Amino acid sequence: MDIDQAVRVLVLGGTSESRELAARLSGDDRFDFVTSLAGRVRDPILPLGTSRVGGFGGADGLTRWLHDHEIHAMVDATHPFASTISNNAAIAAAHHRIPLLGLHRTPWSRRPGDQWIEVSNSSEAAAAIPADAGRVLLTIGRQEVAAFAAIDSSWFLIRSIDPPDPVLPINHELLLTRGPFDIASEIELMRRRGIDAVVSKNSGGVMTEAKITAARELGIPVIMVARPTVPPDRRVVYTVDDVLAWLDSLFG
Ligand code: NAP
Repeated sequence: MDIDQAVRVLVLGGTSESRELAARLSGDDRFDFVTSLAGRVRDPILPLGTSRVGGFGGADGLTRWLHDHEIHAMVDATHPFASTISNNAAIAAAHHRIPLLGLHRTPWSRRPGDQWIEVSNSSEAAAAIPADAGRVLLTIGRQEVAAFAAIDSSWFLIRSIDPPDPVLPINHELLLTRGPFDIASEIELMRRRGIDAVVSKNSGGVMTEAKITAARELGIPVIMVARPTVPPDRRVVYTVDDVLAWLDSLFG
């Protein structure tokens, strides 16, 4: 693609990978980029360079935004569970025939010693909590905690960055904090709070992996919510270097 000016890139962000990409792009004057954040957390870590916050108004809104801002390429570096925005990105990119690349983090995979109970969504996770798990560490973010609200046979330590959406289990305590966490502190937390099961999304990446390692070392089951499936035709890479190589291959 021949472009006689800086290449305008929209990065759909909100992840550490998107911040790493922004840091790399901000040192490269071939690119004029903006990172878009959903606005899910009250005090977001802002990436280097220009950013904007808040929804676009569905696929149509994003389609209009791409046109109004004359975007040449889009990188979807959103959280692996943020499938609505990823689908909207695909629709809007197809509309304008703008190249779109997904930047995903590698999912965690089961290792020897892991006691994973793999489920497809939060409702299934709630149903899969073992009957003898009296104290559960719930680490699925602040949305979807309502799926656990009907359970009164377990106590939940609900960990999220911001307070979870209302409708919570009767027996719970909130732990509002932001990662990264290390293995020693996760083991200490699980021991001190008597945790006997962990619920997690398979977000992947290093920022929150310590809880998975800690559960393995303590012999605690992890109810692991699988990622939403990515359409087979979607182009996805796993490193920022690969995104930069892709931009190079397109724009030289
Ligand atoms: P989503 O369900 O894919 O998106 C819902 C709406 O949020 C989108 O339709 C869009 O609104 C807006 N949106 C999402 N990402 C955006 C971005 N980067 N820039 C501008 N608007 C954006 O995503 P989600 O509600 O954020 O999260 C869904 C799942 O991902 C949850 O399980 C959550 O725990 C997990 N998660 C997400 C993030 C994140 O940063 N997004 C971080 C951690 C975890 P419009 O339709 O109005 O454009």
